[in-house]
Amino acid sequence: MNQNQQLFAAAQKHIPGGVNSPVRAFGSVGGTPRFFKKGLGAYVWDADDQRYIDYVGSWGPLILGHTHPDVLEAVINAAKNGMSFGAPTAAEVELADLICKMLPSIEQVRLVSSGTEATMSAIRLARGFTGRDKLVKFEGCYHGHADSLLVKAGSGLLTFGNPSSAGVPASVAADTLVLPYNDVAALEALFAEIGEQIAAIIVEPIAGNMNMVQASAEFVQAMRKLTENYGSVLIYDEVMTGFRVGLQCTQGLHGIKPDLTCLGKVVGGGMPLAAFGGRNDIMAKLAPLGPVYQAGTLSGNPVAVAAGLATLKLISEYGFFNQLSIQTKKLCDGLIQIAKETNTIFSTQSVGGMFGFYFSKNIPQSFADVMNSDRTKFNSFFHGMLNKGIYLAPSAFEAGFVSAAHSDQDIIDTLEVARLVFLEIS
Ligand SMILES: *Cc1c(COP(=O)(O)O)cnc(C)c1O
Repeated sequence: MNQNQQLFAAAQKHIPGGVNSPVRAFGSVGGTPRFFKKGLGAYVWDADDQRYIDYVGSWGPLILGHTHPDVLEAVINAAKNGMSFGAPTAAEVELADLICKMLPSIEQVRLVSSGTEATMSAIRLARGFTGRDKLVKFEGCYHGHADSLLVKAGSGLLTFGNPSSAGVPASVAADTLVLPYNDVAALEALFAEIGEQIAAIIVEPIAGNMNMVQASAEFVQAMRKLTENYGSVLIYDEVMTGFRVGLQCTQGLHGIKPDLTCLGKVVGGGMPLAAFGGRNDIMAKLAPLGPVYQAGTLSGNPVAVAAGLATLKLISEYGFFNQLSIQTKKLCDGLIQIAKETNTIFSTQSVGGMFGFYFSKNIPQSFADVMNSDRTKFNSFFHGMLNKGIYLAPSAFEAGFVSAAHSDQDIIDTLEVARLVFLEIS
């Protein structure tokens, strides 16, 4: 057994499934998860000292690559002054001001420790603000693991959702309605029927948890118009896309002002930090100002805030996203070219530093489309790449990420490997 295998066996003794978050277990692709011991720039090294070019970036946060010197320095300096106070600090004021400056839709923001906390709190706030219980989400979108979000579609348009996890009460799931992504007609029909009961729509405006699927312009307009007309809250879950697809996130690209926005991943620069924020009148309902309770011992943690601030400052530098988009597109264009040459059915797209690739002819528009892609082929591709030192997300349902540390040579090296693997699997 190599080191990764030994560690995975040992891990399973006292950690359920050997992992602290399920997809890390390689369940859908099979094989042994890699245990990492070091990251630098675009690279990670596993327990057997194998180096990989990393396109996961800790599932999105590491937009500057691993251990960026400025971020590292900010973290070390903050830690030296105290790991946590459970009391306000100047740095969290600076981060809140910066977030509000970068995203015009956010007038007030609260810092939390995970994306799950951000979405869960935003939903409670939307319910408290509207005095309504019903929540609309879309098939294939992931918003963390709070009870009311672990829900799958029931049968028929107006059947309320069913739990997608054991342990979620049916009564909780019943208040969540699940519609197909990008289906304007279904959304309009639902609002026509029970719009007055709907507290909020929560959406990944570019979905990154069913591979990558973009909301159409019509879908975005319909969500904004219907929530406005019916007095519901529009929540953009930008935990993944926030500061990843552009400096003003997806909402900037869409020219949309959501009522509430959830942030995570990049905003914490690799540390446990997330946020939710939006309209003043909604945020004013939050404790201690208002009746909606929300709190956290480590919220606004000074070390995490330092990592977030350092990261946001660096990505705000002139031309950052332009360069990152070009680099990501080089990877996608290269893959398409190789797929053509090897007669592989394949498509791909990217926005900013986020990309999707699919073993299907067309770019998917919904969860059903993603389900129809060739997932067996994905698994062969994944393992082929992994064996040759390219680390992709271990599931056909995840988006990929390029960081500012990925050089031209890294992209060229990745494409060279991809050509070999495409030939192997075609
Ligand atoms: C990752 C993610 C979450 C959950 O964030 P955690 O920090 O893992 O709790 C929520 N929404 C979206 C869109 C995400 O990508």
